[in-house]
Amino acid sequence: MSTFKHDKPTHGLSTEIVHSKPVSTEGFSALPVPLYRGSSTFFESTAAQRAPVNPIGLDYSYGLHGNPTQYTLAKKLAEIEGAMHALVCPSGLTGIALVAQACLKTGDHWLIPENVYGPVQALARSLHADYGIEFTEYDPCNAASVAAALQTNTKLVWTEAPGSLTFEVPDLQTIVALAKAHGARTGIDNTWAAGIAYKPFEHGFDFSVQALTKYQCGHADVLMGAVLSNNTRAFTDLERRNRILGLGVSPADCDLVLRGLLTLPLRYRQQAENGLLVATELKQHKAIARVLHPEFPECPGHEFYKRDFTGFASIFSVVLQSHYTDEQACKIIDSLKLFKIAYSWGGPESLGLVVNVADSRKRYLLDTNGQCGPILRLAIGLEDPNDLIADLMLALDAA
Ligand SMILES: *Cc1c(COP(=O)(O)O)cnc(C)c1O
Repeated sequence: MSTFKHDKPTHGLSTEIVHSKPVSTEGFSALPVPLYRGSSTFFESTAAQRAPVNPIGLDYSYGLHGNPTQYTLAKKLAEIEGAMHALVCPSGLTGIALVAQACLKTGDHWLIPENVYGPVQALARSLHADYGIEFTEYDPCNAASVAAALQTNTKLVWTEAPGSLTFEVPDLQTIVALAKAHGARTGIDNTWAAGIAYKPFEHGFDFSVQALTKYQCGHADVLMGAVLSNNTRAFTDLERRNRILGLGVSPADCDLVLRGLLTLPLRYRQQAENGLLVATELKQHKAIARVLHPEFPECPGHEFYKRDFTGFASIFSVVLQSHYTDEQACKIIDSLKLFKIAYSWGGPESLGLVVNVADSRKRYLLDTNGQCGPILRLAIGLEDPNDLIADLMLALDAA
């Protein structure tokens, strides 16, 4: 395949193996970003090694703090979302925890929406119990509840659009304006929009978090997150926290997400379209009381979705008629042939779950008798939507 010229060895074999140079890359050009690995990053001189490191620059000082594969992924994510700064971290949840820790210290207070991604509620409780950081949950469908919850020590207003499980879309413009007037930082879990369908930095957000685990990876084989920002001071605080905690991401995983990004817009659009077809069919079924999908006018906050978003994801929930029991709901999910029972979404396979939503959060979901049936969450993959519809119809008819 190739001919290699080599000089007569001047060292022992094991030294030769460690120190032999890679082949030249001159004349080689290809689309994929090289997969760089490396814990030790070599400096050219002691002077270079002693030079101050710019924590938010493209400095190569140690594998944990970034290499060209990791930085290239961060750069592409920043381009997609229109951010100046970005870092990748071990999971979407880590990204949210980093934002909280960058903004809050003992005695501070933050706001989270009632319909927040579940583990964030657990994070808020733990920051309160362990570090004395207070929090208040607000009603995402009522910006006045944000105004009412702001305190003199409120340092962060966290948002998620739409909310996990129930898909209400908040009035992000008003929430950001309220937080800014109060001097609090703002962050959004922008996973649903994948950085494509909503642009947080055009709306004044300080931070956006992506669970790259979902659409950006797109193949259900990587766990990773990203934090993006246009606020240099806030991002510097966050990067400091990232380094203190010693968080790092495998370059091999970055390589997989870089591959996923190539088809991200196509997959996002196609899965959304398939999802909407499925949701529209489900709406007609007599077992279903309502479909919680921001594209539908009956979704709380639909008007804010129309105003602020340019697309939608392929995940939504359906509320069964209130006479259905939890057992019947489980039977429906268990009898599906093409849907796996699993958390996560954004991968090629469709997923379904019966989800638990606290009664206090069901105020927008009640029927005319004040009841709310079991809730099923469906994440639509890349299968033929007609097959998925047929599978769902069989399960619902049998229930
Ligand atoms: C999955 C998810 C996360 C967390 O992502 P992980 O990478 O699994 O930690 C955060 N927010 C939303 C909305 C998610 O769906």
